[in-house]
Amino acid sequence: MREIQHFINGQFVPSASSKRFDNINPATGQIIATVHEGGVAEIDLAVKAAKAALTGPWASISLDERMALLRRVAEGIQARAADFVEAEVTDNGMAVHLASHVNVPRGSANFIQFAEHFKYVSTECWEMEGAINYALRRPLGVVGIISPWNFPLLLMTWKVAPALAAGNTVVVKPSEETPTSAALLGEVVKDILPPGVYNAVQGLGPDSAGSALTEHPDVDGITFTGETTTGKAIMRTAADGLKKLSFELGGKNPNIIFADADLDECVTTTLRSSFANQGEVCLCGSRIYVERPIFDTFVEKLVHAARTQVKVGDPMDPETTMGALISRAHFDRVQGFLDSAKADGATFHCGGKRPADLPAHLDGGAFLEPTVMTGLGKACTAQQQEIFGPVVSVTPFDSEEEVIGLANDTRYGLSATVWSSDLSRAHRVAARLEAGVIWVNTWFLRDLRSPFGGLKNSGIGREGGIHSLEFYTELKNICVKL
Ligand code: NAD
Repeated sequence: MREIQHFINGQFVPSASSKRFDNINPATGQIIATVHEGGVAEIDLAVKAAKAALTGPWASISLDERMALLRRVAEGIQARAADFVEAEVTDNGMAVHLASHVNVPRGSANFIQFAEHFKYVSTECWEMEGAINYALRRPLGVVGIISPWNFPLLLMTWKVAPALAAGNTVVVKPSEETPTSAALLGEVVKDILPPGVYNAVQGLGPDSAGSALTEHPDVDGITFTGETTTGKAIMRTAADGLKKLSFELGGKNPNIIFADADLDECVTTTLRSSFANQGEVCLCGSRIYVERPIFDTFVEKLVHAARTQVKVGDPMDPETTMGALISRAHFDRVQGFLDSAKADGATFHCGGKRPADLPAHLDGGAFLEPTVMTGLGKACTAQQQEIFGPVVSVTPFDSEEEVIGLANDTRYGLSATVWSSDLSRAHRVAARLEAGVIWVNTWFLRDLRSPFGGLKNSGIGREGGIHSLEFYTELKNICVKL
């Protein structure tokens, strides 16, 4: 059985204890690796290594050299693309097409992007009578990165890359569901970065490596992507050490579709925004609001597209568009939301069950058909809570005012989409939506220089471009009397 160890101070090391957990392929239910579970001892080792590296060769190399190293990391990921793709697919259950076209290229692009961007950022200067003030950026220090399972490499490197580009050192705690990519990144950086700059400790969340990282006194900041409830737990723990925090949390994102939208393009994109990565994308639109004149036509077209264009199956098959949910436990959780929607009077137009025609080797897998529901009131559990599965609810609306109210009526505020050929209306609505990322007539079109994050219970702070630099550095003002 393959073993996954921690990557600490440039070496792969076992856990001090005999604690291990299984890495399961969610498409087959088979155990594919044994993972060393880290805790206080391993986090302490990793943080010590990261702290020491802050004053080692990493601190004294020039900005150009540091950026060149990060470009080599990007190339290293590309060179090992096949291994990363396999890791993402077998750990997560996502379709190989998605892993090879999105996760792995973005994992590499994150390093290029931040290496390029940060090189050209200057700081501020104010002249006053008889003195001059200028601001210097310095690395935050040791950054703890806690990442989720839904896009393992992409979301981990979205934080590792800017942290390193800004001169920090990192300790990553990847999701226990998807441990392999963080270990593979260790293999890539081993011969590129000085020891201690990138560390990855495997483990669980509470009472394990996750909480140990948030509690460690020598961790200067925590950047976290995951569930809102986990964010709250991390915030409570990190409060003791007064750590700088950045949170990218859950969403319950609205898609608003006006009758004057280009319907065919809207249906094609809504199919993606509903079912990409089995709906396990924080940015997926799960509440779809459609202006009444086109409501029936829209539902008919979306259901037809879900039935004919979404191919649920073996994630390793290049033809598959939807693979397995992350685990049986998560499948049961999603099923619980479907049961509550049924009890609340939802009509299921498609999906709601495991596909009947899957091959025998996927018998142990957590598969669900793409599911489209209508008839849910705004207060129903399935309209308010994040399902994080291939499930959408479609609701009609009659006016701009009404739909803005419906869209904003959740505790989340991550993303939204607005579909209309009237751009004045699109701007007007976008400005009033309580969401950190709003797309007009598109979805998931990302410019990594733009601010990314959520309002309300969907996050704290922004990352991306200059916003990442702000989180991963401290600014010092220096005042010189002339
Ligand atoms: P999760 O919160 O269960 O776990 C995320 C990470 O936190 C894991 O590494 C886990 O081990 C760790 N963790 C759990 N409890 C902890 C604790 N008490 N202390 C320290 N660490 C702890 O989230 P998940 O199920 O892996 O991911 C899905 C969630 O992530 C969804 O809610 C989704 O919306 C959200 N998400 C948000 C974004 C965004 O950019 N806003 C992006 C992707 C995913």
